[in-house]
Amino acid sequence: MKKINYKIIGFVSLFIVLLLGVSLIDKDNYVPYIDFYEKVNNQNIDTIFYNNSDKIKFKQKDNDTVFTTDNPRKENFKEEMLFKGITFKEQINVGNSLSAILGIALVGSIIFIVYKKTKKSAITIKQFDINDKTNIYFKDIAGNEEAKENSKDIVDFLKYPEKYKKLNARIPRGIIFYGEPGTGKTMMARAIASEANVPFYSVCGSDFVEMYVGVGASRVRSLFKKAREHKKAVIFIDEIDAIGKKRATSLQNTNEEREQTLNALLTEMSGFSKDEGIVVIATTNRIDILDDALIRAGRFDRHIEINLPDKVAREKIITLLLKDKKIDDNINIEEIAKKTIYFSGAMLDALINEASIMAIKDNNDKININHIDKAYLKIIAGDEKKDKSFMTEQDKKITAIHEAGHAVVTNALNNATISKISIIPTTKGAGGFCLNIFEDKLFQTKKDIENQIMSLYGGRCAEEIILGSENITTGAYNDIEKATKLIIDYVSKYGMTDNNILSHNILKENNNTLDIYKKISLNLYEKTKNILIENIKNLEKLANELIEKETLDEKQIYNILKKCS
Ligand code: ADP
Repeated sequence: MKKINYKIIGFVSLFIVLLLGVSLIDKDNYVPYIDFYEKVNNQNIDTIFYNNSDKIKFKQKDNDTVFTTDNPRKENFKEEMLFKGITFKEQINVGNSLSAILGIALVGSIIFIVYKKTKKSAITIKQFDINDKTNIYFKDIAGNEEAKENSKDIVDFLKYPEKYKKLNARIPRGIIFYGEPGTGKTMMARAIASEANVPFYSVCGSDFVEMYVGVGASRVRSLFKKAREHKKAVIFIDEIDAIGKKRATSLQNTNEEREQTLNALLTEMSGFSKDEGIVVIATTNRIDILDDALIRAGRFDRHIEINLPDKVAREKIITLLLKDKKIDDNINIEEIAKKTIYFSGAMLDALINEASIMAIKDNNDKININHIDKAYLKIIAGDEKKDKSFMTEQDKKITAIHEAGHAVVTNALNNATISKISIIPTTKGAGGFCLNIFEDKLFQTKKDIENQIMSLYGGRCAEEIILGSENITTGAYNDIEKATKLIIDYVSKYGMTDNNILSHNILKENNNTLDIYKKISLNLYEKTKNILIENIKNLEKLANELIEKETLDEKQIYNILKKCS
């Protein structure tokens, strides 16, 4: 009974402190109503938290900070905000009355105690996904050889921590796997735990981020406490950026909850004793956004990059994924690996899975190359739209000219293999597509980038040449976006223009760069137009074939292009 009383007092005080804390923070973030209204008109407001006190709270689109402003107590205020596309959340007004605060605190305490009593230790168990056996071993991961090699001494440390203690060797306790999503970072962490035969505690960075300050930090402590009970364990924090992003320098943008959680994590990691066989493995897609305190020596100081697989690695992954599946003799794994450039392991997994589903739908007991091809297109371009009735003849013609333009330029520049062209709209929103398979190589030359930009401009140029400059369409918006990004990198990142081998990203000043971008873009656009004018027969023939057949595969495309030239 004594214990319960203590809990009530503790929780009530915490609640009061929290509420008072929230109201103090609100005062710092006060925005005059006139400024708030301007933000509303500028469509800069994301959510309004409404209650009937004299102040209301709101969040902006570009910022997670909660601001307050005066409550206008206006009729139709909610309707007006909803019309402007703002999320409107109504909250109970706790007011400033101490009795209301105490009332809520009391109810909260009772719920807390009842919850604690009934669930006992279930809270901590539920928060973390504990897998005593993860069932993934190094043999289940194809490719990623360097990462595997790097992980082997961690396994050894987990198995024999005494060995390391004897020699006074300091093994990294914090490991960060970083790289593109779906490249097998989680698998690698699981495999380390399995190979070392230790429990695996898995948690996602965002699980720590709670509305109430202090909860994340207490979760961190509870997670480490649980892991320490086993003496040896792998603690896995997926997407650590949720708590470990670089801390804000300006006071306004601080996120107290995240900071406390991060500090708790750093404190726990600093407190490892030498004979404890516990390592913390975290993943992130971008290591450069993590806080320096997190990645410095003694914390997460081993950084292992896991890249997108190259062709050989893709072959290995596909072989592994097809291992327990029945496949037709017409499947050539090398060919699949060749055309799945830039696919992550997860995308390859999705490809094989889609192909299996298609084989089942076909009542086929084996996966054949048609299933793989269909699955490939589904992943690259989305499902073909079944209802094509909304497409007018003119739409078809425009799309055919546009896609044929891409293909003819790519063919003339010989910078990629054109594997498929389609004028069937996809569920991903594209009107059609021209699928280019680029050579898998480590470096891009200046010419490669220029060619890519010209291939992208091919669609718009073809529209201009055949339909006239008055009739160009919106269909090129995505190509223009991609080409612009390439031009910016060409100038600002790679220093590929004459008289400029400086990185604008480092200089952080871009005087006159817009003029340089425009000059390059217009020059490449003119060149693209000339290519198409020289190959006008190819363009017309390919466009006509597309209107007739709607999709052309690699063989058909090159047959048409060969005949014309
Ligand atoms: P990440 O953590 O990098 O986002 P995951 O480890 O969760 O990626 O991988 C997602 C899925 O992709 C895995 O479950 C597996 O099916 C597949 N996968 C990724 N990389 C590989 C690989 N190297 N070998 C085999 N399968 C892989």
